[in-house]
Amino acid sequence: MGDQQKILVIGAGIAGITASIDLADAGHEVLLVDRLPSIGGRMLQLSETFPTLDCAQCTLTPRTVETGQHRNIRLLTYSEVLGLTGEPGDFTATIRRKAGKVDWTKCTGCGACQEKCPTRVKTNFFDRGVGMKKAIFSLSPQAIPNKPYIDVENCRYFKFGKCRICSKACPVGAIDYEQEDRLVEEKVAAVIVATGFELYPIAAMGEYGYGTVPDVIDGLAMERFCSASGPTAGKVLRPSDGAEPKSVVFIQCVGSRDPEHHKPYCSRVCCMYSAKHARLYKHKVHDGIATLFYMDLRTTGKGYEEFLQQSTEEEGLIYVRGRVSKIFRDGDKVIVWGTDTLSGQPVEVEADMVVLATALVPNPEQAALATALGIEADVNGFFQEGHYKVGSNETVRPGVFVAGCCQGPRDIADTVAHASAAASKVQVFLAQRRRAA
Ligand SMILES: Cc1cc2nc3c(=O)[nH]c(=O)nc-3n(C[C@H](O)[C@H](O)[C@H](O)COP(=O)(O)OP(=O)(O)OC[C@H]3O[C@@H](n4cnc5c(N)ncnc54)[C@H](O)[C@@H]3O)c2cc1C
Ligand code: SF4
Ligand code: SF4
Repeated sequence: MGDQQKILVIGAGIAGITASIDLADAGHEVLLVDRLPSIGGRMLQLSETFPTLDCAQCTLTPRTVETGQHRNIRLLTYSEVLGLTGEPGDFTATIRRKAGKVDWTKCTGCGACQEKCPTRVKTNFFDRGVGMKKAIFSLSPQAIPNKPYIDVENCRYFKFGKCRICSKACPVGAIDYEQEDRLVEEKVAAVIVATGFELYPIAAMGEYGYGTVPDVIDGLAMERFCSASGPTAGKVLRPSDGAEPKSVVFIQCVGSRDPEHHKPYCSRVCCMYSAKHARLYKHKVHDGIATLFYMDLRTTGKGYEEFLQQSTEEEGLIYVRGRVSKIFRDGDKVIVWGTDTLSGQPVEVEADMVVLATALVPNPEQAALATALGIEADVNGFFQEGHYKVGSNETVRPGVFVAGCCQGPRDIADTVAHASAAASKVQVFLAQRRRAA
Protein backbone atom coordinates (compact mmCIF):
# COMPACT_ATOMS: atom_id res chain seq x y z
CA MET A 1 0.00 0.00 0.00
CA GLY A 2 1.48 3.36 -1.03
CA ASP A 3 1.96 6.33 1.27
CA GLN A 4 -0.99 8.14 -0.28
CA GLN A 5 -3.39 5.59 1.22
CA LYS A 6 -2.24 6.20 4.75
CA ILE A 7 -4.88 7.57 7.12
CA LEU A 8 -4.00 9.91 9.97
CA VAL A 9 -6.11 9.49 13.11
CA ILE A 10 -5.62 12.23 15.73
CA GLY A 11 -6.59 11.21 19.26
CA ALA A 12 -6.39 7.67 20.60
CA GLY A 13 -9.42 7.50 22.88
CA ILE A 14 -12.09 4.89 22.24
CA ALA A 15 -13.16 6.88 19.14
CA GLY A 16 -9.69 7.03 17.56
CA ILE A 17 -8.93 3.43 18.49
CA THR A 18 -12.20 2.17 16.99
CA ALA A 19 -11.73 4.09 13.74
CA SER A 20 -8.10 2.92 13.51
CA ILE A 21 -8.95 -0.76 14.00
CA ASP A 22 -11.79 -0.57 11.46
CA LEU A 23 -9.55 1.03 8.84
CA ALA A 24 -6.59 -1.22 9.59
CA ASP A 25 -8.78 -4.34 9.38
CA ALA A 26 -9.96 -3.11 5.97
CA GLY A 27 -6.30 -3.06 4.82
CA HIS A 28 -5.46 0.63 5.25
CA GLU A 29 -2.28 1.86 6.83
CA VAL A 30 -3.10 3.99 9.89
CA LEU A 31 -0.98 6.52 11.73
CA LEU A 32 -2.52 7.03 15.19
CA VAL A 33 -1.33 10.15 17.02
CA ASP A 34 -2.02 11.07 20.66
CA ARG A 35 -0.65 13.91 22.73
CA LEU A 36 -0.31 11.60 25.75
CA PRO A 37 2.36 8.87 25.98
CA SER A 38 -0.27 6.09 25.95
CA ILE A 39 -3.50 5.32 24.13
CA GLY A 40 -6.97 4.82 25.63
CA GLY A 41 -8.18 8.38 26.32
CA ARG A 42 -10.68 9.05 29.10
CA MET A 43 -11.74 5.41 29.30
CA LEU A 44 -8.35 4.70 30.88
CA GLN A 45 -9.51 6.83 33.82
CA LEU A 46 -12.96 5.23 34.22
CA SER A 47 -13.80 2.57 36.78
CA GLU A 48 -16.98 0.75 35.80
CA THR A 49 -19.29 1.86 33.03
CA PHE A 50 -23.02 2.40 32.76
CA PRO A 51 -25.41 0.84 31.96
CA THR A 52 -23.86 -2.58 32.63
CA LEU A 53 -21.35 -1.68 35.38
CA ASP A 54 -18.68 -3.76 33.70
CA CYS A 55 -15.12 -2.61 34.20
CA ALA A 56 -13.93 -0.02 31.67
CA GLN A 57 -10.55 -1.69 31.30
CA CYS A 58 -12.18 -5.03 30.42
CA THR A 59 -13.78 -3.31 27.42
CA LEU A 60 -10.81 -1.11 26.58
CA THR A 61 -7.74 -3.31 27.09
CA PRO A 62 -8.43 -5.85 24.30
CA ARG A 63 -8.80 -2.90 21.93
CA THR A 64 -5.67 -1.06 23.08
CA VAL A 65 -3.69 -4.31 22.84
CA GLU A 66 -5.07 -4.98 19.34
CA THR A 67 -4.20 -1.40 18.32
CA GLY A 68 -0.67 -1.72 19.70
CA GLN A 69 -0.09 -5.01 17.87
CA HIS A 70 -1.91 -4.38 14.58
CA ARG A 71 0.43 -4.65 11.61
CA ASN A 72 -1.37 -1.80 9.82
CA ILE A 73 -1.34 0.66 12.75
CA ARG A 74 1.66 2.80 13.68
CA LEU A 75 1.46 4.66 16.99
CA LEU A 76 2.89 8.14 17.40
CA THR A 77 2.16 8.90 21.04
CA TYR A 78 3.34 11.93 22.99
CA SER A 79 2.91 13.80 19.70
CA GLU A 80 0.80 16.63 18.30
CA VAL A 81 -0.28 17.62 14.82
CA LEU A 82 0.81 21.17 14.03
CA GLY A 83 -0.37 21.59 10.46
CA LEU A 84 -1.98 19.97 7.44
CA THR A 85 -1.16 21.17 3.94
CA GLY A 86 -1.95 19.81 0.50
CA GLU A 87 -5.09 18.49 -1.16
CA PRO A 88 -7.72 15.94 -0.15
CA GLY A 89 -6.17 12.54 -0.82
CA ASP A 90 -2.66 14.00 -0.77
CA PHE A 91 -2.09 15.81 2.51
CA THR A 92 1.16 16.46 4.35
CA ALA A 93 0.83 16.50 8.15
CA THR A 94 3.46 18.17 10.31
CA ILE A 95 3.74 16.41 13.66
CA ARG A 96 5.67 17.38 16.77
CA ARG A 97 7.17 14.40 18.61
CA LYS A 98 7.50 15.74 22.13
CA ALA A 99 10.65 15.01 24.08
CA GLY A 100 9.83 12.63 26.94
CA LYS A 101 13.55 12.46 27.80
CA VAL A 102 13.43 8.66 27.38
CA ASP A 103 14.57 6.81 24.26
CA TRP A 104 11.56 4.58 23.67
CA THR A 105 13.40 2.50 21.08
CA LYS A 106 15.65 1.28 23.91
CA CYS A 107 13.13 1.32 26.83
CA THR A 108 11.67 -2.08 27.71
CA GLY A 109 9.03 -0.69 30.09
CA CYS A 110 10.58 -2.48 33.08
CA GLY A 111 9.61 0.30 35.51
CA ALA A 112 12.95 0.44 37.37
CA CYS A 113 13.28 4.20 36.77
CA GLN A 114 9.86 4.94 38.29
CA GLU A 115 10.57 2.75 41.28
CA LYS A 116 13.84 4.50 42.09
CA CYS A 117 12.81 8.11 41.31
CA PRO A 118 12.73 10.00 44.66
CA THR A 119 10.27 12.70 43.48
CA ARG A 120 6.57 12.25 44.15
CA VAL A 121 4.07 14.66 42.58
CA LYS A 122 0.29 14.96 42.28
CA THR A 123 -1.00 14.17 38.81
CA ASN A 124 -3.87 16.49 38.18
CA PHE A 125 -4.54 15.51 34.61
CA PHE A 126 -4.73 11.72 34.98
CA ASP A 127 -5.45 10.93 38.63
CA ARG A 128 -7.23 14.31 39.06
CA GLY A 129 -5.20 15.13 42.14
CA VAL A 130 -6.29 11.90 43.90
CA GLY A 131 -2.94 10.11 43.85
CA MET A 132 0.79 10.68 43.61
CA LYS A 133 3.15 9.78 40.78
CA LYS A 134 6.90 9.90 40.34
CA ALA A 135 8.62 12.58 38.22
CA ILE A 136 9.25 9.84 35.62
CA PHE A 137 6.13 7.82 35.01
CA SER A 138 3.81 6.03 32.61
CA LEU A 139 0.05 6.58 32.79
CA SER A 140 -0.90 3.18 34.14
CA PRO A 141 0.58 -0.30 34.52
CA GLN A 142 -1.59 -1.43 31.58
CA ALA A 143 -0.52 1.53 29.41
CA ILE A 144 0.08 0.91 25.72
CA PRO A 145 2.78 1.65 24.90
CA ASN A 146 4.05 1.14 28.45
CA LYS A 147 6.84 3.70 28.21
CA PRO A 148 7.60 6.41 30.77
CA TYR A 149 8.42 10.06 30.31
CA ILE A 150 9.98 12.69 32.54
CA ASP A 151 7.82 15.46 33.93
CA VAL A 152 10.50 18.14 33.51
CA GLU A 153 8.61 20.69 35.62
CA ASN A 154 9.03 18.50 38.69
CA CYS A 155 12.16 16.46 37.95
CA ARG A 156 15.01 17.35 40.35
CA TYR A 157 17.61 17.17 37.61
CA PHE A 158 15.78 19.70 35.43
CA LYS A 159 14.97 21.91 38.42
CA PHE A 160 18.22 21.78 40.37
CA GLY A 161 20.75 20.12 38.05
CA LYS A 162 21.24 17.15 40.40
CA CYS A 163 19.79 13.62 40.68
CA ARG A 164 20.00 11.39 37.55
CA ILE A 165 18.93 8.43 39.69
CA CYS A 166 16.64 7.15 36.94
CA SER A 167 19.55 7.10 34.52
CA LYS A 168 21.59 4.96 36.93
CA ALA A 169 18.59 2.65 37.50
CA CYS A 170 17.83 2.09 33.82
CA PRO A 171 19.42 -1.20 32.72
CA VAL A 172 19.40 -0.31 29.01
CA GLY A 173 20.59 3.32 29.06
CA ALA A 174 17.28 4.68 27.77
CA ILE A 175 17.19 7.92 29.79
CA ASP A 176 18.15 10.82 27.52
CA TYR A 177 18.08 14.18 29.32
CA GLU A 178 19.26 15.92 26.14
CA GLN A 179 16.36 14.69 24.02
CA GLU A 180 14.58 17.55 22.18
CA ASP A 181 11.22 17.85 20.43
CA ARG A 182 11.36 16.71 16.80
CA LEU A 183 9.21 17.68 13.83
CA VAL A 184 8.27 14.97 11.34
CA GLU A 185 6.24 15.12 8.15
CA GLU A 186 3.86 12.37 7.03
CA LYS A 187 1.99 12.01 3.75
CA VAL A 188 -1.61 10.95 4.36
CA ALA A 189 -4.67 10.55 2.18
CA ALA A 190 -7.33 11.43 4.79
CA VAL A 191 -7.64 12.45 8.42
CA ILE A 192 -9.96 11.52 11.28
CA VAL A 193 -9.93 13.89 14.26
CA ALA A 194 -10.96 12.20 17.52
CA THR A 195 -9.60 14.45 20.25
CA GLY A 196 -12.39 13.95 22.78
CA PHE A 197 -13.32 16.30 25.61
CA GLU A 198 -12.21 17.98 28.82
CA LEU A 199 -14.27 18.78 31.92
CA TYR A 200 -15.51 22.33 32.41
CA PRO A 201 -13.05 24.20 34.63
CA ILE A 202 -15.46 24.84 37.46
CA ALA A 203 -12.91 26.50 39.72
CA ALA A 204 -14.47 29.68 38.32
CA MET A 205 -17.86 28.66 39.76
CA GLY A 206 -17.36 29.92 43.29
CA GLU A 207 -20.76 28.78 44.55
CA TYR A 208 -19.75 25.12 44.18
CA GLY A 209 -16.66 25.47 46.35
CA TYR A 210 -14.46 23.52 43.96
CA GLY A 211 -10.82 24.33 44.52
CA THR A 212 -11.51 25.94 47.92
CA VAL A 213 -13.42 23.14 49.70
CA PRO A 214 -11.09 20.11 49.47
CA ASP A 215 -13.88 17.56 49.73
CA VAL A 216 -15.60 18.82 46.58
CA ILE A 217 -14.36 16.77 43.61
CA ASP A 218 -15.32 16.28 39.97
CA GLY A 219 -16.61 13.17 38.21
CA LEU A 220 -13.28 12.01 36.87
CA ALA A 221 -11.74 12.20 40.36
CA MET A 222 -14.61 10.00 41.55
CA GLU A 223 -13.75 7.54 38.75
CA ARG A 224 -10.15 7.40 40.01
CA PHE A 225 -11.37 6.73 43.57
CA CYS A 226 -13.65 3.93 42.35
CA SER A 227 -11.03 2.28 40.10
CA ALA A 228 -9.65 -0.94 41.53
CA SER A 229 -6.37 -0.15 39.73
CA GLY A 230 -6.50 3.53 40.78
CA PRO A 231 -4.48 5.39 43.41
CA THR A 232 -6.70 4.28 46.35
CA ALA A 233 -7.17 0.71 45.04
CA GLY A 234 -10.91 1.33 44.67
CA LYS A 235 -11.60 2.92 48.06
CA VAL A 236 -13.66 6.12 48.17
CA LEU A 237 -11.84 8.38 50.64
CA ARG A 238 -12.43 11.95 51.69
CA PRO A 239 -9.57 14.04 50.18
CA SER A 240 -9.15 16.28 53.27
CA ASP A 241 -8.36 13.51 55.78
CA GLY A 242 -8.57 10.14 54.00
CA ALA A 243 -11.65 9.11 56.05
CA GLU A 244 -14.45 7.02 54.57
CA PRO A 245 -17.28 9.43 53.70
CA LYS A 246 -20.61 8.45 55.28
CA SER A 247 -22.66 10.92 53.29
CA VAL A 248 -21.96 11.98 49.69
CA VAL A 249 -23.91 14.50 47.60
CA PHE A 250 -23.82 14.15 43.82
CA ILE A 251 -24.79 17.22 41.78
CA GLN A 252 -25.79 16.92 38.13
CA CYS A 253 -25.77 19.56 35.37
CA VAL A 254 -22.91 21.59 36.88
CA GLY A 255 -22.20 24.12 34.13
CA SER A 256 -24.52 22.33 31.66
CA ARG A 257 -27.94 23.62 30.59
CA ASP A 258 -27.18 27.07 31.94
CA PRO A 259 -27.13 29.39 28.90
CA GLU A 260 -26.93 32.57 30.95
CA HIS A 261 -23.81 31.74 32.93
CA HIS A 262 -22.14 28.66 31.51
CA LYS A 263 -22.90 26.09 28.77
CA PRO A 264 -26.32 25.94 27.10
CA TYR A 265 -26.21 22.27 26.11
CA CYS A 266 -26.86 18.99 27.92
CA SER A 267 -23.63 17.01 28.44
CA ARG A 268 -25.58 13.77 27.87
CA VAL A 269 -23.64 11.48 30.20
CA CYS A 270 -23.93 13.13 33.63
CA CYS A 271 -27.39 11.80 34.65
CA MET A 272 -26.14 8.31 33.99
CA TYR A 273 -22.66 8.58 35.49
CA SER A 274 -23.99 10.32 38.62
CA ALA A 275 -26.36 7.38 39.18
CA LYS A 276 -23.43 5.07 38.50
CA HIS A 277 -21.18 6.92 40.98
CA ALA A 278 -23.86 6.87 43.67
CA ARG A 279 -24.39 3.13 43.16
CA LEU A 280 -20.66 2.36 43.19
CA TYR A 281 -20.33 4.41 46.39
CA LYS A 282 -23.21 2.50 48.04
CA HIS A 283 -21.62 -0.81 46.99
CA LYS A 284 -18.44 0.26 48.77
CA VAL A 285 -19.93 2.02 51.80
CA HIS A 286 -23.04 0.02 52.67
CA ASP A 287 -24.31 2.36 55.39
CA GLY A 288 -23.46 5.48 53.35
CA ILE A 289 -26.10 8.02 52.32
CA ALA A 290 -26.09 9.08 48.66
CA THR A 291 -28.12 12.18 47.77
CA LEU A 292 -28.41 13.34 44.16
CA PHE A 293 -29.51 16.81 43.01
CA TYR A 294 -30.90 16.81 39.46
CA MET A 295 -32.74 19.11 37.01
CA ASP A 296 -34.27 16.33 34.92
CA LEU A 297 -33.28 12.71 34.49
CA ARG A 298 -32.36 12.07 30.88
CA THR A 299 -31.76 8.46 29.94
CA THR A 300 -31.93 7.97 26.21
CA GLY A 301 -29.63 5.00 25.59
CA LYS A 302 -30.51 1.30 25.43
CA GLY A 303 -30.86 -0.10 28.95
CA TYR A 304 -30.45 3.36 30.52
CA GLU A 305 -33.98 3.86 31.82
CA GLU A 306 -33.87 0.41 33.43
CA PHE A 307 -30.51 1.31 35.04
CA LEU A 308 -32.00 4.48 36.48
CA GLN A 309 -35.17 2.73 37.69
CA GLN A 310 -33.03 0.20 39.50
CA SER A 311 -30.93 3.02 40.97
CA THR A 312 -33.96 4.84 42.37
CA GLU A 313 -35.99 1.81 43.47
CA GLU A 314 -33.48 -0.78 44.65
CA GLU A 315 -30.26 0.99 45.54
CA GLY A 316 -31.63 3.40 48.15
CA LEU A 317 -30.41 6.56 46.43
CA ILE A 318 -32.09 9.81 47.49
CA TYR A 319 -33.01 11.98 44.51
CA VAL A 320 -33.82 15.68 45.07
CA ARG A 321 -35.12 17.66 42.09
CA GLY A 322 -33.49 21.03 42.41
CA ARG A 323 -30.62 23.39 41.86
CA VAL A 324 -27.85 23.96 44.37
CA SER A 325 -27.18 27.57 45.37
CA LYS A 326 -24.15 27.24 47.61
CA ILE A 327 -21.60 24.74 48.92
CA PHE A 328 -19.33 25.61 51.84
CA ARG A 329 -17.25 24.05 54.56
CA ASP A 330 -18.38 23.90 58.18
CA GLY A 331 -15.83 22.15 60.41
CA ASP A 332 -15.07 18.85 58.72
CA LYS A 333 -18.41 18.81 56.88
CA VAL A 334 -19.48 20.15 53.51
CA ILE A 335 -22.83 21.94 53.60
CA VAL A 336 -24.98 21.94 50.48
CA TRP A 337 -27.78 24.49 50.17
CA GLY A 338 -30.40 24.07 47.50
CA THR A 339 -34.09 24.16 46.75
CA ASP A 340 -36.37 21.19 46.16
CA THR A 341 -38.22 22.45 43.09
CA LEU A 342 -41.03 19.89 43.51
CA SER A 343 -42.01 21.08 47.01
CA GLY A 344 -40.60 24.61 46.71
CA GLN A 345 -38.82 24.10 50.06
CA PRO A 346 -35.19 24.96 50.80
CA VAL A 347 -32.94 21.93 51.40
CA GLU A 348 -29.76 21.70 53.45
CA VAL A 349 -27.62 18.56 53.33
CA GLU A 350 -24.61 17.96 55.58
CA ALA A 351 -22.16 15.82 53.64
CA ASP A 352 -18.66 14.42 53.97
CA MET A 353 -17.96 14.79 50.27
CA VAL A 354 -19.54 16.32 47.14
CA VAL A 355 -19.13 15.07 43.57
CA LEU A 356 -19.85 17.56 40.78
CA ALA A 357 -20.98 16.27 37.38
CA THR A 358 -19.40 19.08 35.39
CA ALA A 359 -20.09 19.88 31.77
CA LEU A 360 -18.17 18.15 29.00
CA VAL A 361 -16.34 20.81 26.98
CA PRO A 362 -13.85 20.71 24.09
CA ASN A 363 -10.17 20.44 24.92
CA PRO A 364 -8.66 23.91 25.44
CA GLU A 365 -6.31 23.37 22.46
CA GLN A 366 -9.16 22.41 20.14
CA ALA A 367 -9.40 25.90 18.56
CA ALA A 368 -5.68 25.84 17.67
CA LEU A 369 -6.07 22.35 16.21
CA ALA A 370 -9.07 23.49 14.12
CA THR A 371 -6.88 26.26 12.68
CA ALA A 372 -3.98 23.86 12.07
CA LEU A 373 -6.28 21.47 10.21
CA GLY A 374 -8.28 24.11 8.35
CA ILE A 375 -11.60 23.04 9.87
CA GLU A 376 -14.16 24.96 11.95
CA ALA A 377 -15.44 24.97 15.51
CA ASP A 378 -19.10 25.50 16.47
CA VAL A 379 -20.37 28.11 18.95
CA ASN A 380 -19.44 25.90 21.88
CA GLY A 381 -15.98 25.08 20.53
CA PHE A 382 -16.72 21.50 19.41
CA PHE A 383 -15.75 20.72 15.81
CA GLN A 384 -18.39 21.87 13.35
CA GLU A 385 -19.96 19.00 11.46
CA GLY A 386 -20.93 19.12 7.77
CA HIS A 387 -24.62 18.59 8.53
CA TYR A 388 -26.45 18.28 11.86
CA LYS A 389 -28.37 15.17 10.89
CA VAL A 390 -26.80 13.53 7.87
CA GLY A 391 -23.18 14.64 7.99
CA SER A 392 -21.94 14.52 11.58
CA ASN A 393 -18.57 13.03 10.54
CA GLU A 394 -17.79 15.55 7.80
CA THR A 395 -16.03 18.90 8.19
CA VAL A 396 -15.70 21.91 5.90
CA ARG A 397 -12.46 20.43 4.57
CA PRO A 398 -12.95 17.43 2.25
CA GLY A 399 -10.85 14.47 3.40
CA VAL A 400 -10.93 15.55 7.07
CA PHE A 401 -13.51 13.80 9.27
CA VAL A 402 -14.42 13.92 12.97
CA ALA A 403 -15.38 11.20 15.44
CA GLY A 404 -16.53 11.02 19.06
CA CYS A 405 -16.77 13.69 21.74
CA CYS A 406 -14.70 16.31 19.90
CA GLN A 407 -17.83 16.85 17.77
CA GLY A 408 -20.18 16.87 20.79
CA PRO A 409 -20.72 15.05 24.11
CA ARG A 410 -21.73 11.40 23.83
CA ASP A 411 -21.42 8.11 25.75
CA ILE A 412 -19.14 5.22 24.83
CA ALA A 413 -21.71 3.33 22.74
CA ASP A 414 -22.51 6.39 20.62
CA THR A 415 -18.81 7.30 20.38
CA VAL A 416 -17.95 3.86 19.02
CA ALA A 417 -20.79 4.03 16.47
CA HIS A 418 -19.69 7.54 15.41
CA ALA A 419 -16.08 6.38 15.03
CA SER A 420 -17.02 3.38 12.90
CA ALA A 421 -19.11 5.73 10.77
CA ALA A 422 -16.05 7.99 10.32
CA ALA A 423 -13.94 5.01 9.24
CA SER A 424 -16.60 4.07 6.73
CA LYS A 425 -16.79 7.66 5.41
CA VAL A 426 -13.02 7.62 4.86
CA GLN A 427 -13.29 4.42 2.85
CA VAL A 428 -16.06 5.89 0.68
CA PHE A 429 -13.91 9.01 0.20
CA LEU A 430 -10.90 6.91 -0.90
CA ALA A 431 -13.04 4.74 -3.21
CA GLN A 432 -14.51 7.85 -4.86
CA ARG A 433 -11.02 9.23 -5.45
CA ARG A 434 -9.85 5.94 -6.91
CA ARG A 435 -12.83 5.90 -9.28
CA ALA A 436 -12.23 9.53 -10.27
CA ALA A 437 -8.58 8.73 -11.04
C1 LIG B 1 -16.83 11.18 34.82
C2 LIG B 1 -17.23 10.49 33.54
C3 LIG B 1 -17.73 9.19 33.59
C4 LIG B 1 -18.15 8.57 32.40
N1 LIG B 1 -18.69 7.31 32.50
C5 LIG B 1 -19.16 6.72 31.38
C6 LIG B 1 -19.80 5.42 31.45
O1 LIG B 1 -19.89 4.83 32.52
N2 LIG B 1 -20.32 4.90 30.29
C7 LIG B 1 -20.26 5.57 29.08
O2 LIG B 1 -20.79 5.06 28.09
N3 LIG B 1 -19.62 6.77 28.99
C8 LIG B 1 -19.08 7.36 30.10
N4 LIG B 1 -18.45 8.57 29.99
C9 LIG B 1 -18.25 9.17 28.64
C10 LIG B 1 -16.95 8.63 27.99
O3 LIG B 1 -15.85 9.03 28.78
C11 LIG B 1 -16.84 9.17 26.56
O4 LIG B 1 -17.95 8.73 25.83
C12 LIG B 1 -15.58 8.67 25.83
O5 LIG B 1 -14.43 8.81 26.62
C13 LIG B 1 -15.40 9.47 24.55
O6 LIG B 1 -14.29 8.98 23.85
P1 LIG B 1 -13.46 9.87 22.81
O7 LIG B 1 -12.49 8.95 22.17
O8 LIG B 1 -14.37 10.66 21.95
O9 LIG B 1 -12.69 10.96 23.70
P2 LIG B 1 -11.53 10.79 24.80
O10 LIG B 1 -11.76 9.60 25.64
O11 LIG B 1 -11.47 12.14 25.47
O12 LIG B 1 -10.20 10.57 23.96
C14 LIG B 1 -9.60 11.62 23.23
C15 LIG B 1 -8.13 11.32 22.99
O13 LIG B 1 -7.58 12.36 22.18
C16 LIG B 1 -6.32 12.80 22.72
N5 LIG B 1 -6.12 14.19 22.31
C17 LIG B 1 -6.78 15.29 22.71
N6 LIG B 1 -6.32 16.38 22.08
C18 LIG B 1 -5.33 15.96 21.26
C19 LIG B 1 -4.48 16.63 20.33
N7 LIG B 1 -4.56 17.94 20.13
N8 LIG B 1 -3.57 15.89 19.64
C20 LIG B 1 -3.49 14.54 19.84
N9 LIG B 1 -4.27 13.86 20.70
C21 LIG B 1 -5.19 14.56 21.40
C22 LIG B 1 -6.48 12.62 24.21
O14 LIG B 1 -5.21 12.50 24.85
C23 LIG B 1 -7.30 11.31 24.28
O15 LIG B 1 -6.46 10.17 24.27
C24 LIG B 1 -18.03 9.24 31.15
C25 LIG B 1 -17.50 10.54 31.11
C26 LIG B 1 -17.11 11.16 32.29
C27 LIG B 1 -16.57 12.57 32.25
S1 SF4 C 1 16.35 12.71 37.41
FE1 SF4 C 1 15.73 12.14 39.49
S2 SF4 C 1 13.81 13.31 39.86
FE2 SF4 C 1 14.23 13.36 37.65
S3 SF4 C 1 13.00 11.67 36.88
FE3 SF4 C 1 15.09 10.90 37.19
S4 SF4 C 1 15.06 10.02 39.25
FE4 SF4 C 1 13.23 11.30 39.07
S1 SF4 D 1 14.31 1.81 33.64
FE1 SF4 D 1 14.82 2.22 31.48
S2 SF4 D 1 13.98 0.46 30.39
FE2 SF4 D 1 13.03 0.46 32.42
S3 SF4 D 1 11.10 1.64 32.11
FE3 SF4 D 1 12.66 3.11 32.80
S4 SF4 D 1 13.51 3.98 30.90
FE4 SF4 D 1 12.42 2.09 30.35
